[in-house]
Formats: sequence, structure tokens, C-alpha cells
Amino acid sequence: MPELRKDPVIGRWVIIASERARRPGNFVDRNDSEIEMEERQCSLCADTQNAIATMPQVFSDSADSSLGDVKVVPANPSSVLESVEFIRSKKGLYDVISGFGAHEVVIETPEHITNMTDLSVPQIRLVFETYAARIQALEKNEQYQFAIVYKNYGVTIRDYAIGHSRSYVVATPVRPLRVKEKLIGAKDYYDQKHACIYCDLIQQELASGDRIVHETEHFIAFVPFAARFLFEIKILPKEHHCDYHLGLRGKEADLAQMMKIILEKIQNGLDDPAYSYVIQTAPFRRTGLYSSKWKTIDRDYHWHIELMPQLTRMAGFEKGTGFYICAIPPEDMAEYLRGVE
Ligand SMILES: [Zn+2]
Ligand SMILES: [Zn+2]
Repeated sequence: MPELRKDPVIGRWVIIASERARRPGNFVDRNDSEIEMEERQCSLCADTQNAIATMPQVFSDSADSSLGDVKVVPANPSSVLESVEFIRSKKGLYDVISGFGAHEVVIETPEHITNMTDLSVPQIRLVFETYAARIQALEKNEQYQFAIVYKNYGVTIRDYAIGHSRSYVVATPVRPLRVKEKLIGAKDYYDQKHACIYCDLIQQELASGDRIVHETEHFIAFVPFAARFLFEIKILPKEHHCDYHLGLRGKEADLAQMMKIILEKIQNGLDDPAYSYVIQTAPFRRTGLYSSKWKTIDRDYHWHIELMPQLTRMAGFEKGTGFYICAIPPEDMAEYLRGVE
């Protein structure tokens, strides 16, 4: 069973995937030509045409039938992670939790389409509605503190064998360090100014317009003022809400439209690069320890999407320091993307 281990110095949790250990001699990532060969065989489509249709669904009740073509399956079908009880233990200085939580694969389409950009707007909308439905369902399990949605498209070290448009929902009994840093930063700002920093950012970005990539009725997409990566984009709902699954209501079609446009700009303007996105939403509010510490979270935190094309590899300097070097000014990146059809 995988486990969570905490770095005793900075408090960062790491998932140690014990069962996926590679064999000795197999630690080096394969070269690009081998990866390309594997790209052609999709394990989701390969076996039978009905491979996807016959997979066990995570959903069990008919209320979710509106999700149409989108399927959600456990990332590891042999383990029913939702029934696992997390056991915390201490080994001297080290904290360990057995298991790490739910890990679900959202198969975005039954057709073999690799890039979400090539899905229709209604299909993209179904995918984002599915994320919301899954977060809502996972929140009911009291063991989980936090859920996050992520997607990796293109040739990346993990998952390179499956070039089928998919994304993931993860729920864990702990909060990742970067999420904690964001929550603390947003709360500090709120404590000083009695305002949501993200709402204030939206006002400032709309007023200047320099870093805006696209705007819809309910969302703005912009290159952050201190972007870490080339063409990093943040997508924020204009209306304040800390929870993705609740804040999305009534804006599903508009978000799908925004995602389609932004992903097309990246595909066409940057020569179809690999990319990742993460949906950042507030942790689940549980009674007890955290309730007093995060009592203003509804007002101080604002859900959002971080989209990161992978145009450069993270170098040792960034990995070692967390100090990023961005080679193009964010204003120039935004101007370029605004011009891409
Ligand atoms: Zn496929
Ligand atoms: Zn806000």
C-alpha cells in the first residue's frame, strides 16, 4: 500500500508509491523515440472497443447519469481506497500515514482523443461538472481533508503510455505544502485588508489589462505577475467563492468555453506542447483542530485553475531553491497569446 511521509524540516508530504517500485536497472526515463512508440497504443482503447464501457465506475447512483460520456474509474482498480482507514504513526522524527487517499481517473471521452482541446465545448463542460460531482462525493468521507483535480497532457515522465484525454481527482487526509502556503498567504492578506487577495488581483489585472489573455462573462485568464514558468496561466472566476464544486454552479458552460479557447491558444501558439493544469479549491472544513484556524476561509480564499505548459524542464536550481527563473516577461507572454487565434 502506498503511504504518506512527511518531510520533518519543512512539513511537505510526499506520496511514496511502494507498489509501483520499478525494477532495478529501470530507473532512467526512457528516451523520446520509445515514448513515441508507446503513444500509439492506448491501453484504454486497445483491448476491445468496449474497454472503457466495461470498466467499473466510481459512481454508483443514477443521479450522476447526467455525466454522459465521461467516466470515472479508480486509478488502481484492485484497491477500494475509499474504505481504507488512515493510520498515523511516528517513527522517531518521521510522520507516516498508511495509504494516501482516493485517486480517480476521469476518462473525458470514449473516443481516442488525446488533447482536451479537441473535445467539444459541451464535452469539456461535462468533464468540469464531473470534477465538481466527485469532489462533492469525496467530501462526504470524513477522513479526507482536501481534494484536488489535475491533468497532464503530452509526453511526461508519468503516464506516457496512455495518450487518451483524461484527468485525475485526488483526495487525501493531509494538505500539500504549496496549498498550505497559498491558504496562509490569502489569510494573512485578509487579516490585514479584510478583502480577498484574489478578488483584488482580478480588479487590478482587469484595470491594467497587460497580462490578460482572455476574458469571458464569468472568468479571467491571465499570466501571473510573477510567473514561474513560460506561459503559465491562471484562470479565476470573477465571482468570489472558495470551493470549486459550489462556485462553479451556473458557470459551467462559460468555463468550458474559456478552457477551449485557452487550450487552443496554447496548442496553436506554442506548437502543441505538453501541459498540466490543477484546480485549486479550499480544503474541506472539518470540525475540530482546523475550524478555528481557518474560520475566514470562505472569505479569504478563492478557487482557481493553474495551467502550466511544459516548455522547459525544471533545472536543478529551481528544484533546489524553489526560486524560479522566467525567461520572458509575463506582459509579453500575455500579449503573444492574445494574438493567437
Ligand atoms: Zn484511447
Ligand atoms: Zn475572492
